[in-house]
Amino acid sequence: MNIAILSGKGGTGKTLLSVNLSYLAENSVYVDCDVEEPNGLLYYKIDNLEQESVLTKIPVINNDLCDGCRICSDFCKFNALAFIKGKIKVYNDLCHSCGGCKLVCPQKAITEIDNAIGVIKSGQYEDTFVLSGELKVGEESGVPIINRLLEESSKLNKTVFIDSPPGNGCTVMESISNADYCILVAEPSIFGLHNLNMVYNLATVFKKKIGLVINKTTGDPIINNYAKEKGLKILTEIPMDFELGKLNSEGEIVSKIPKYKELFFNILETVFKEVN
Ligand code: SF4
Ligand code: SF4
Repeated sequence: MNIAILSGKGGTGKTLLSVNLSYLAENSVYVDCDVEEPNGLLYYKIDNLEQESVLTKIPVINNDLCDGCRICSDFCKFNALAFIKGKIKVYNDLCHSCGGCKLVCPQKAITEIDNAIGVIKSGQYEDTFVLSGELKVGEESGVPIINRLLEESSKLNKTVFIDSPPGNGCTVMESISNADYCILVAEPSIFGLHNLNMVYNLATVFKKKIGLVINKTTGDPIINNYAKEKGLKILTEIPMDFELGKLNSEGEIVSKIPKYKELFFNILETVFKEVN
């Protein structure tokens, strides 16, 4: 079972939910797909993490074989190849490693080399297996790292909690692609409503089962009204709680504390019932 936790922006409570739900669930995997700013390991403090590079392929042109036909640069839809001063120049940052240019080159002038775009870290924390991806600074797309994370997690035959990147871009689409259930997290404000609407639309396009967690409730019914209008199930409302916020900001797994455990446990129970 794959459960994705997403929100329209960072700092809404996505990692709070992902970490605590995965910690409470039996036989679980926590996957940090927020590869541009992973912070799950601030909670899952693991000694001796294993680390592995994520490699993609980028093209290299052999100018002795290239006749300047430009078939490759015309083919590349990402504008990663340009014909400049009689030679093909490769813009590594724009390359999506599709391998197409190598296939279409009639002179077999294109080969590929490995390009390390980031790392995957993994380790065990009590009953939870933890996977975290990290995109190298300056790299364009975290999608290949997310693919690897999800591939690794799917081999484990456990309940997977996916801490998605914020927003609704292609990395988010990738991270929810195989999700059985999407938990949307929102704060009660106009900005929060806008962000919620973004991820609600995305999860709806992907035809996902959806539940909503309202974080830092203040009594403002703006998100409750939206949920009612959309027929969206509210899984729980987490009150504005100074102590919870402080513990969370210190990297504590708050569901270890009895008074917060029930809050997260109830969400788990509801989601499991909805999926099964
Ligand atoms: S397709 Fe091959 S031969 Fe043609 S410009 Fe590109 S690298 Fe050169
Ligand atoms: S591998 Fe694909 S994206 Fe990269 S330069 Fe070649 S055609 Fe363009």
